[in-house]
Amino acid sequence: TNPDLTPIRQPEDPDAALRPKSLGEFVGQEAARENLRVFIEAARGRGEAMDHVLFFGPPGLGKTTLAQIVAKEMGVGFRATSGPVIAKAGDLAALLTNLEPNDVLFIDEIHRLNPVVEEVLYPAMEDRALDIIIGEGPSARSVRIDLPPFTLVGATTRQGLLTTPLRDRFGIPVRLNFYTEAELTQVVTRAARLLDLTIENAGAREIARRARGTPRVAGRLLRRVRDFAHVAGDGTVTAQVADGALTRLEVDSLGLDAMDRRYLTMIAETYKGGPVGVETLAAGLAEPRDTVEEVVEPYLIQLGLVARSARGRCLNDGGWKHLGLTPPANPSE
Ligand code: ADP
Repeated sequence: TNPDLTPIRQPEDPDAALRPKSLGEFVGQEAARENLRVFIEAARGRGEAMDHVLFFGPPGLGKTTLAQIVAKEMGVGFRATSGPVIAKAGDLAALLTNLEPNDVLFIDEIHRLNPVVEEVLYPAMEDRALDIIIGEGPSARSVRIDLPPFTLVGATTRQGLLTTPLRDRFGIPVRLNFYTEAELTQVVTRAARLLDLTIENAGAREIARRARGTPRVAGRLLRRVRDFAHVAGDGTVTAQVADGALTRLEVDSLGLDAMDRRYLTMIAETYKGGPVGVETLAAGLAEPRDTVEEVVEPYLIQLGLVARSARGRCLNDGGWKHLGLTPPANPSE
């Protein structure tokens, strides 16, 4: 797949430049934004750390951005790490003991914490304390270290990936949803302004319509379209320039990329429309199951092209239609 088009963060992170810096600048997710505004104001008013927050939703919808905004609006420091990076309990202890009072500690992919590290997090979140074992054998004893008040902000693709004890320790769970076309049009227009790019409203809408409901994808598509606009025209992004560029990038009318289409085609042609298990599909696509479940499927399900059931994945009428195929006359029951 084209790495530019996946909603997963790339190492060099060109996203940073486009990040909104305040709740006011953050487009969409109205319910989440309004709730956060209240919690931030209340905590600030009391001079306390805000309660721990869990952001969940598909990649590229603004979880990291919101975590940074929480810190900024609280007027506190921001530390970021991710679940797989914290290898040992001691790494987490070092992070926690270095926080300033009321700081935000952001842990991306928090569902991928090592279980031993996760155990350390429970008392830290609940009692602001670390239980450290000193010594070995019969003389070993547990020492409790007090931590400064802090806000843990966790991010994960699905709430259900967290263990129950971890999930229960977040006072503020916040679900992020795919963005509407109108919201993404605003995201694209704002990004174009930051990139110093002339864009017509119809051009912004065309990109928005094909951005998989995801601001990160909108930003990526805009950068690619900009290249085409400079090479092929006078640099202005019109609907026609956007459409031409996106078609050449193999982003179709619904915003699906080559991987999405391979996924749909596999269910249609190899499995006669399903049901087929996700493991089987992942193996066929040579992609990790997580990628299929967390990145590919949510948007296809949101569009109603595919249905997820206990027996596996099935192609809906919309899915057949999008592929230009007819469902088999007598589908397997
Ligand atoms: P996540 O952490 O959920 O994977 P990020 O917070 O890294 O997503 O956001 C990805 C990109 O999308 C960033 O460049 C950010 O600027 C942009 N973005 C996300 N949400 C919004 C929004 N609501 N308004 C404008 N830009 C956004």
